[in-house]
Amino acid sequence: MNADARFGPGHRILVTGGAGFVPSHLVDALISRGCTVVALDNFITGSKENVAHLLDEPRFTLVEADISDGLPTHHPAMAERFDAILHMASPASPTDFEKLPVEILRVGSVATLHLLDRAVADSARFLMASTSEAYGDPKEHPQPESYWGNVNPIGIRSVYDEAKRFSEAATMAYHRSHGLDTAIVRIFNTYGPRMRPDDGRAIPTFISQALRGEPITVHGTGNQTRSICYVSDLVHGILLLLDSRETGPINCGTEHEMSMRQLAETIVSLTGSSSEVTYITRSADDPEMRRPDLTLARELLGYEPTVTPEDGLRRTIEYFRERMV
Ligand code: NAD
Repeated sequence: MNADARFGPGHRILVTGGAGFVPSHLVDALISRGCTVVALDNFITGSKENVAHLLDEPRFTLVEADISDGLPTHHPAMAERFDAILHMASPASPTDFEKLPVEILRVGSVATLHLLDRAVADSARFLMASTSEAYGDPKEHPQPESYWGNVNPIGIRSVYDEAKRFSEAATMAYHRSHGLDTAIVRIFNTYGPRMRPDDGRAIPTFISQALRGEPITVHGTGNQTRSICYVSDLVHGILLLLDSRETGPINCGTEHEMSMRQLAETIVSLTGSSSEVTYITRSADDPEMRRPDLTLARELLGYEPTVTPEDGLRRTIEYFRERMV
């Protein structure tokens, strides 16, 4: 644990969505710092497998509950005070936006309020996992935190974008009216092991298709861009924010911006696949470009991502390959 860390041995941390892709990596990092971690999850998009290696760890507890129904009272691990609450739970992939719209709205609204109330009661630091989707289809590029965004409030993605925007507003309201110690991180496209192969996001989809030798289905012309961040860089950024006294919002991600066509071609080359790149209809309101302005993260947190896209993609391909045999 680094000397500046506010949270380490003896601290109890609640991580909602702890069995999900990003949150389970965060749980690993908190456990290895010596924290005691309670992960709350209803497994709607996450999986016990992601934390199976921790089930014998005495400082880790997994509690099954839907936090949109309120915080569970049945479990002893929930009774003791938390030093920090990280609200990471939410379905987050484009296929989820269509399949789970109401669940997404609830976990980004009522669940956020339940957790903020608990943070007030515990005098805990509250960290909200927001998203680059708060910027919608941005008219400013790259996106600084000062940009207010361009979101279609009734479009197919709005359940996610607006729920996260509501959560940001709620977090700031509790900060202002209750003096709560809060932080908001705006997470840009993150990838790595433990993603679901069928979650509809570009990287797992392209890797699965490439490993099966199927056509790589790129949406639209493939000229739309994303800046991809390997999960260990994101976890590092979230922990820097958690340890700081900053409120945010602060962007976290990388400046490795690439078009979806480039991404597909890179994955074909790294997997050694014979797959061809094909083009299919693009979904509504899909952002044209995405790149974080990382000035604040650098200046306030000393954040610097280190994993190159080739390296991160290779590690992710390895993870998917191992699961396909
Ligand atoms: P994920 O779906 O793998 O993880 C989310 C977890 O939350 C899952 O385990 C799910 O079962 C759980 N969950 C959802 N609703 C719940 C509820 N009502 N009660 C209890 N548990 C619930 O997704 P992820 O990609 O790891 O995203 C984690 C967080 O990071 C999300 O809040 C997401 O919005 C945010 N985020 C992720 C990215 C990304 O690129 N991965 C980008 C921006 C923001």
